[in-house]
Amino acid sequence: MTIINNSKTDPNKILPMQYAWARQHYKSGVANNWTPEEVSMQKDVEQWKSGKVLTEKERRLILWNLGFFSTAESLTANNIVLAIYRHVTNPESRQYMLRQAYEEAVHTDTFIYCCDTLGLDPEEIYNMYKTIPSIDDKDTFVVELTKSIFEPTFETADTKNIQKFLHDLIGYYVIMEGIFFYAGFAMMLALKRQGKMVGIGEQFEYIMRDESIHLAFGCDLINTVKAENPEVWSEKFQKEVVELIKKAVELEKKYAYDACPEGLLGINAEQFANYVEHVADRRLQRLGLPKVYQTENPFPWMSESVDLTKEKNFFETRVTEYQTAGSLKWE
Ligand code: MN
Ligand code: FE
Repeated sequence: MTIINNSKTDPNKILPMQYAWARQHYKSGVANNWTPEEVSMQKDVEQWKSGKVLTEKERRLILWNLGFFSTAESLTANNIVLAIYRHVTNPESRQYMLRQAYEEAVHTDTFIYCCDTLGLDPEEIYNMYKTIPSIDDKDTFVVELTKSIFEPTFETADTKNIQKFLHDLIGYYVIMEGIFFYAGFAMMLALKRQGKMVGIGEQFEYIMRDESIHLAFGCDLINTVKAENPEVWSEKFQKEVVELIKKAVELEKKYAYDACPEGLLGINAEQFANYVEHVADRRLQRLGLPKVYQTENPFPWMSESVDLTKEKNFFETRVTEYQTAGSLKWE
């Protein structure tokens, strides 16, 4: 059996399973279950309304990140449900995609909750993907990049179309969820470390945990398609993938400079850009491609702040008990 293009696969027959990784990602997702209402926004509301704690630039950066993520989450959900699901008939992979779709709904709910509690203008936030050029550029890039599998007649039948499928999967999983989310994650978590907007910061941490599993599933899916169809992973195609990732890195760096031109207390804008390069190198490696940037991680605390074993006390105060501390590798 193969993960795509297998007319013998019965999508309703999940046992026995073939791809243990798909099952594992499903279980990791369930073990991380959370909802936005579990996180108190009281302090955030005080800080947001007092007008004293946050600088104008910090307020702008928070709004930009809410603007980017609020629409990016539904874009991702639609991609899974309307495009990817149809082509991946393997039942345990579909089981995971259903879980992922639910998590994207939780993320969408998070931004509804943030808008409601902070009293933000939804017209402003939900239009930023059109009104802010560096957000528009990212979304347009992903939409363009992932057009072929949205075609109603698209099939993954031959080498060329399997390459298109991989190209689009890389657009969804590696570029959107694996690169375009990370400057925003770093900014919001940096604010949290300074005691600013800690509720939203905590929600971003939960989202980042979920996203790192989405990314892991995406890479396993991509690498499985590669392994089962080795002819598609030609040198020419690999070069194409590297170019896409480089273009995505430029867009994400542009976003980082625009959202946070003067940096945050103790962090300059260039460090956010370096972080994007570092993250991109890790994504490349995960696809079996060589690093492009060799940039050192400027924010080692990014992995630490979401490392469950290192944040025991934090979690003991939470309603949700996290069960699989050792089984997840955070990005
Ligand atoms: Mn998400
Ligand atoms: Fe996701």
